[in-house]
Amino acid sequence: MREEQVGDELGARLKEYEGCPAAVAGTGKDPVNAPMIRHWCEALGDTNPAYTGPDAIAPPTMLQTWTMGGLSGHRGRTGAYQELLGLLDAAGCTAVVATDCEQEYLRPLRPGDEVTFDTVIEEVSGRRTTRLGTGYFVTTRTDVRVAGEPVATHRFRILKYAPVPRAPLPRRPRPVVNRDNAGFWRGVAEHRLLIQRCTACGTPRHPWLPGCNACGSPDWDTVEASGEGTVHSYVVLHHPPFPAFDPPYAVGLIELAEGVRMVSNVVGVPYDEVRIGLPVRLEFQRCDEELTVPVFRAVRR
Ligand SMILES: [Zn+2]
Repeated sequence: MREEQVGDELGARLKEYEGCPAAVAGTGKDPVNAPMIRHWCEALGDTNPAYTGPDAIAPPTMLQTWTMGGLSGHRGRTGAYQELLGLLDAAGCTAVVATDCEQEYLRPLRPGDEVTFDTVIEEVSGRRTTRLGTGYFVTTRTDVRVAGEPVATHRFRILKYAPVPRAPLPRRPRPVVNRDNAGFWRGVAEHRLLIQRCTACGTPRHPWLPGCNACGSPDWDTVEASGEGTVHSYVVLHHPPFPAFDPPYAVGLIELAEGVRMVSNVVGVPYDEVRIGLPVRLEFQRCDEELTVPVFRAVRR
């Protein structure tokens, strides 16, 4: 992470918000109460006896819970914080991540305590470049009171940043092309799916091989696949994630109308709707300037 102060005009503008109130005389939506404490402790697995019974206190780290506005927000909120965020959005810093929080406790909160609070924009950093992207850290400080007496302080820091665009997927792995299967890949380059056929016994075969599995003959010719097929079987790949692919995706064993099967991608249908027996039709997918592969598109009937 590095700070860039030179030419940071936006940063200078944002700095002017330091010290501005973000919420004035906010009130907690609920008094500190036993049911919320119980839910919190159950969710976190915290069995500390201090949080139950007639003398229970609230877990100190629950502090923010009592001041949260929920979906409907707080009435005490000022425009300054929204304005600050709006400036950042307009500058392209549209992403946000909470980075850290600091709390100071002056006394425990107990069921029945009614919380009020004021929040101030305490600090806006200069422009910083992080691994997530370039942006600004914004720290707010919330002073929490009960019956006018300070009970705790809560600092909350976010990073508003311009997300680094996702790098394009690496290129798909190249097929291994050798003397036995070069004819298959030449056919694919011409958008023809060629199936080997034994000229001695007529048995079609895929993948390409030097000889016939049925009769042993080394003599063959080819037939061009019509492109009609069905999903004979399939798997859905979640892991391991290969860099060139975007899981989850379906890999099908496609039974071609000519009677051979080949492994390929099933496209045009969500991965979780691929089914055995699904009719598919051949198409050629251009992966990059060098590589085209045969894939099979689901045929809706
Ligand atoms: Zn044969």
